[in-house]
Amino acid sequence: MNRCAAICFTLLALLASEASAWRLVRIPVLTDSDFALVAQSGFEIASGHRGQGFVDIIIQDRYLDIALERFPEAKVLPEEWAQPMPGSRNEFGYYYGPNENNAFWAELAESSDLVDTPTTFGTSYQGRDIYHVRITNAGDDAPVILFNALIHGREPGGNSVVIDFAQWLTSEYGSDTMATFILDNAQIYFVPMINIDAYYYNLPSGGPNQRKNMNFTLGNGIDLNRNWGYMWGYDDQGSSPNPSSGTYRGTGPFSEPETQAMRDLINELLPLGGFNYHTYGGYLLYPWAYVNQPTPDQAIFQSWGSQMAGPIGYSRGRPGELLYTTNGDALDWEYAEHGALFFTPEVDDNGFWGSQNDSSLIVTNNLACRSMNKLLCMNLLAYVGVTAPQNAALGGASVPSVTVSRNPVSSLLSYTVTGFSSPEVFVMDITGRIVARLSGQGAWVVPADLACGVYRIAARENGVSAESAFTLLR
Ligand SMILES: [Zn+2]
Repeated sequence: MNRCAAICFTLLALLASEASAWRLVRIPVLTDSDFALVAQSGFEIASGHRGQGFVDIIIQDRYLDIALERFPEAKVLPEEWAQPMPGSRNEFGYYYGPNENNAFWAELAESSDLVDTPTTFGTSYQGRDIYHVRITNAGDDAPVILFNALIHGREPGGNSVVIDFAQWLTSEYGSDTMATFILDNAQIYFVPMINIDAYYYNLPSGGPNQRKNMNFTLGNGIDLNRNWGYMWGYDDQGSSPNPSSGTYRGTGPFSEPETQAMRDLINELLPLGGFNYHTYGGYLLYPWAYVNQPTPDQAIFQSWGSQMAGPIGYSRGRPGELLYTTNGDALDWEYAEHGALFFTPEVDDNGFWGSQNDSSLIVTNNLACRSMNKLLCMNLLAYVGVTAPQNAALGGASVPSVTVSRNPVSSLLSYTVTGFSSPEVFVMDITGRIVARLSGQGAWVVPADLACGVYRIAARENGVSAESAFTLLR
C-alpha cells in the first residue's frame, strides 16, 4: 500500500462508525522492512513477533480484500479468534464474563477466610465499580504482589489466568507448601477487570471488540495501556495521538478514571511487583517499553524472565526487542515510579477470543501461567529477604529447568538439568538448528570448530521443555 492508499485506508476506517464483524489476519514478516510495511500500512497490529516471523492485524471483515491484496501471503485466522460469537455458552463461552467475574469473586470471598470481600477502589468512565480482591494469611504490613487483567477489554485469557491463580492459592493453602508460604508471607492483590466498561460493552456477543475504554468524547476510546504517566507520548511508536487509533493515548497522562484508579492503588499499596496480564502471543515483557534499552535492573528482569517463561516456551524481552516500543505503558510507570518489578505476560491464547468454545486451551494456558505466578511470588519475596524453607521452594512439583553454571563458555559447557526424569537434551544455534545432542547431566566438550556466538541448551520431555542461553567465546 502506498502512502496515499494508507491515508485513504485510515480515513475509511475513521468513517466506519458502524461496527461489523472483526477478523485477525496473520501476515508473514521476515525482515525489519517487512515489519515496517505492516506498521506503516494503517492497519491495527494485534500481536506478533518479529523473531517468529509474523504479525497479526485486526480489521473489520469488509476490509479483508484490501488487506489480502496488500499482503497476498497473509492468512485469515478463524472467526472466533477475533470476537465473541453469538451462541457461545454463558457470557463469553468458557471465559468468565463480567457478571460471572462478579459472582466468582464474591463467592470466593464468602467461601474462605483468606479472601477479602471485593473492594471498590475506583469508578470507571461509565460509573462502574473497579474492585480489587486481597488474598492473604499475613498481616496488613506484609509485602504486596499485584495481579491484574483486562486493561484491554477484549483479552479474557488474562482474566482466566488470574481467576485460576486466586482459586489455586485459596484451595491449596494448607496442603501445598508453596501456596501456604506465599499466603503466609504476602498480601496477594487481584484486580480482575480494570477496563470493566469495555468488557461489558463486548456483551452481548457477536459484534463489538473493544480494546480501549468507553470514553468516546473524541473518538472510540482511550488505550488505557498508553495512558500512564511515565514517558507518556514520548513518540508515536506503538502509541498514537490519533483518537481513532487502537493505541490512542488520550489527551494527557492519566486522563482516564481507570488509570487514575490504578495509579492511586499502586501508590497506596506499593507492591513489590506483579503481572499485568494481557493476551495474546506467548510472551513475557519487561521494561523499558518506551525505548529499546535496558533498565538498571535488566539482570533481574532477564534472569527471572528466563526462569519463569523458559519452561513454558514463552519469548521474553523488552517490547522493542520482540515487536515495537510503546509509551505510556503501565510497566514503565510501575518501574520508574516505584522500582516495582512488574512484567507483562501476553498469554498464548488463540487470538483474543479463540478459546471461547474450547476450554482445553484455557486450562493449558492457566496451568502454564500458574507456574509463572508461583515463581514470581517466590522471587519477589526472596528479593526482600523473605525466604522459603527448602521444602516450600517448589511445592513438590519442581519447575523443569536447564541451567548453565559458567557463562560465557570457552571449551567446556557445564550444565544442570532439573525437573525432568529422562529428557532429550540438545544444543541449538540462535536459528533453532540443533548442533549437538547431549546425554544426561553434566558437561559437554564444545567442538573446536563450532563458531563463537549465542547458543541455547534445551531439555525436552513429554511436550515440556526448558532452555537456557549461553555465549560461546574463545
Ligand atoms: Zn493488551
